Amino acid sequence: MKKIYLDHNATTPVHPEVAEAMMPYFNDLYGNPSSVHSFGRETRKVVEDAREKVAGFLGAQHPAEIVFTSCGTESDNFAIKGIACTLNRKGDHIITSKTEHHAVLEVCHFLEKKMDYKVTYLPVDKYGIINPEDVKNAITDNTIIISIMHVNNETGVIQPIEEIGKIAKERKIVFHTDAVQSTGKMPIDVKKLGVDLLSASGHKFYAPKGVGIIYIKKGTRIFPLLHGGSHENRRRAGTENVAYIAGIAKACEIAQRDMKAEGERILKLREKLEKGILSKIKEVQINGHPEKRIFNTLNISFNYIEGEGILLSLDSEGIAASTGSACTSGVLEPSHVLSAMGVPAEKSQGSIRFSLGHQNTDEDIDRLLGVLPGIVERLRAMSPLWEDKIKSIKKI
Ligand code: PLP
Repeated sequence: MKKIYLDHNATTPVHPEVAEAMMPYFNDLYGNPSSVHSFGRETRKVVEDAREKVAGFLGAQHPAEIVFTSCGTESDNFAIKGIACTLNRKGDHIITSKTEHHAVLEVCHFLEKKMDYKVTYLPVDKYGIINPEDVKNAITDNTIIISIMHVNNETGVIQPIEEIGKIAKERKIVFHTDAVQSTGKMPIDVKKLGVDLLSASGHKFYAPKGVGIIYIKKGTRIFPLLHGGSHENRRRAGTENVAYIAGIAKACEIAQRDMKAEGERILKLREKLEKGILSKIKEVQINGHPEKRIFNTLNISFNYIEGEGILLSLDSEGIAASTGSACTSGVLEPSHVLSAMGVPAEKSQGSIRFSLGHQNTDEDIDRLLGVLPGIVERLRAMSPLWEDKIKSIKKI
């Protein structure tokens, strides 16, 4: 039985061209990029070429605006803690949203609890979208950073980053976006978005786990998270991970080449999946905005049953999906993202996230649509909530 992977927002496989691009830097070209000899000069060139490529991919003005990190979590930590440390004399107020990834929320909780920063967690509407007016109204004289994600990992909802960028610029406040779920999937232009800082992560777009990017706009003063050597223009100490840096640069190149065609192909698959579920299964709701949503993500609630049950049944059919975000699955709490959107706990607990990617085909969707209605029916037949619902209908 062919296994079907529909969990690309959790992670992606390494693209074969990325793996190939990385290979020389494990054995043949292994110099430390900081070394002055030829071994070092060779790998220094690899790192600097990668920086230039990534800068071009993100629309940055200068390659020096790109710093390589270990993951999206590190980039988010660097952005927010780095600005909090730099601007602590200017103010102590941070603006973010209730639907951010834990890599942002936990940093804010830490700064709030241990360092006495004040944090505003902005609400979202029923589609999961932030109102830029709320950002404007939340700004105080003490606000030092606004951190709002580009695309939500659970619902795929796209936030109005450009509009928020304009507000931040007008008020001269540093603006960070967590673009971990958008980079490599949709065009990113840091200038158009109006961001000062942007986080991205390799393993979400076919580079390996363990490499990330932070864009730092020229002129943005920010303390490093890691102190030590003068690597990465003194912004991140630690010997550069040359192979992985070559890998993430290759992933950017592939994304640039394939993004349009792949985006259109995957969107058609998601639409087929969405229509198929809505026509075959009753009592379901899509979580997220109908249009302002990235092409690969479908978050859907199956009323009266638990997502975990669906997930396990799908897994036994060789199909992988997710409930909420991968980082929190295993914890049977309603998703903080869906709760913020006003989705009641019982519907949130019956939600599944399907996130599609390169290797998915029409046949994958057909197979999923072939098994899912039966799984839902079987689980509902065992659900006391479903039984009550049927009884109440019969009474009417
Ligand atoms: N931000 C978002 C929106 C994410 O979806 C994730 C991972 O799921 C992260 C940050 C963390 O990225 P990483 O796994 O590279 O640390």
